[in-house]
Amino acid sequence: MPPGGRCYVLAASRANVTLDGSPAAMPDIDKAGLRAALIRRHVWLDEPDIGPRAVAAGECDRCGAEPRLVAPCGPPPAGAGRLSADWALGRGCAAELGVDAWCAGHEAEAERALAWLARLPPEADNAARLWWVATGEVRLDPDMLEDGGPVGALYRALRA
Ligand SMILES: [Zn+2]
Ligand SMILES: [Zn+2]
Repeated sequence: MPPGGRCYVLAASRANVTLDGSPAAMPDIDKAGLRAALIRRHVWLDEPDIGPRAVAAGECDRCGAEPRLVAPCGPPPAGAGRLSADWALGRGCAAELGVDAWCAGHEAEAERALAWLARLPPEADNAARLWWVATGEVRLDPDMLEDGGPVGALYRALRA
């Protein structure tokens, strides 16, 4: 942490949320089986310090359009929808902000996190959203599994 600076690191809290805020019933899915299938295909999901296990489920606090994957420790970005202490970024916004999203004292950590995010496969965002379904943190709208969208497609690929 820089002298006189402020580091915003806080323990990540987990929240029960729905992707769209609706009270849609959770489809009857085998969560443990889904978790196992996800980790077999996306071993990075099991990383405890970064990625969907390390942050509360939800969308990026900067753009609101990608899953949160990393919790930097700098001041919350201007334009963040929710200036909560546990703000987190998706990989697109993390790449845009770079090390500036972290405090000056955690530059090495920032570089490691950014490199990790940059290595994720293209379907990482869908995998992260499905991960939160598998952990029970997010109740997925049944329509999302059926409508041929990317999350549903990954879900079916995992079960095949
Ligand atoms: Zn974002
Ligand atoms: Zn820091």
